[in-house]
Amino acid sequence: MAQQVVAAVRTGPHQTEFRDYPMPEIPDDGALLKVEVAGICGTDVKFYAHPPIPDPVVMGHENIGYIAKAGKQFQERKKVKEGDLVFVEHYVPCFACEWCHKGEYRLCAATDWRKTPGAIRFGYTSAERAPHLWGGFAQYMFLPWNTVLHKVPDGLSAELAGVATPMANGIQWALFDCGVGYDSSVLIQGPGQQGLSQLVACRQAGASLIIVTGTNKDRVRLDVAARLGADHVINVDEDDPLERILAITGGNGVDVALDCTAGSGVTPILLGIDALVRKGGTILVQGEVKQFPDFPLAKVTNKYITIKCARGHNFRSCELALKQLSSDRFPLDLITTHRMGLEDTDKAIKAVGAAQDVIHVSLMPWE
Ligand SMILES: [Zn+2]
Ligand SMILES: [Zn+2]
Repeated sequence: MAQQVVAAVRTGPHQTEFRDYPMPEIPDDGALLKVEVAGICGTDVKFYAHPPIPDPVVMGHENIGYIAKAGKQFQERKKVKEGDLVFVEHYVPCFACEWCHKGEYRLCAATDWRKTPGAIRFGYTSAERAPHLWGGFAQYMFLPWNTVLHKVPDGLSAELAGVATPMANGIQWALFDCGVGYDSSVLIQGPGQQGLSQLVACRQAGASLIIVTGTNKDRVRLDVAARLGADHVINVDEDDPLERILAITGGNGVDVALDCTAGSGVTPILLGIDALVRKGGTILVQGEVKQFPDFPLAKVTNKYITIKCARGHNFRSCELALKQLSSDRFPLDLITTHRMGLEDTDKAIKAVGAAQDVIHVSLMPWE
């Protein structure tokens, strides 16, 4: 095995440097992942432009790889052996709190990297901290004892398994959090990999009406949405989305509105509130806008709206995502549009931000 590991390191806004780190010593309760695919998502686009910490970071938080080396304890605890293909959650939790016992690692204080000093999260942690390999934009990643793993089902390719994170979010947000199910009507704003994964989850669960919106730069993505089973797609740069949604629903509005947009400010939230049914709808929001001047609280209370917050995925939604991906029920290769090598990390992140014909980019550290 090589003595040095090559990693793409974010060293500042829009800045990638390639660095060699020493191959880590693997303790009895740890393991080494040979990264096959690191998926890139909207969060990477955001944090590449505006790094949340000044330290160098090996990004890459949607990781699939082979267990290259594992201590005996790690193998026993995680029921994995060297050579297994696994999906690694980016949460590295305490495994002791109530949330962890429920499989809700996303809510464990130890995974809250903004608030908990010393918290580790794959793709977010300072590369200054030994053994440095805390992200998927590298040939290898270090897995501590409290890593959360999911075995990739037999027959599912690493590249398609790389969509596990957005698919798990789709199942978590639309089905578990917003209650989409049989006969639901749903508005999905933003047709990126996240919005398209929500679409697949909603269809699988039995939604009877799915409307997907996008902008001029999303033309290809809207076409993919239609091919994956959206009943209506709306380009908001060409059409008035609210008018169209009300026309489609006979003036009733939709049961659930999911915000999967990036960089659109308060607009999707306002549209979501207006597009919901007269009483009892549910809206899923992201935390992109810190302040919301003139938030229409009276409308929210009058319409008896429930607000849900997008907050990652739990253990079960990851397991179901891998099952969904391996089911072959949807032409999901329409989502895995691009693969790029480690030397193209900068280009790959920017390509996801620019949209056009790019939906999901698989960063392949060995290509
Ligand atoms: Zn992500
Ligand atoms: Zn915990």
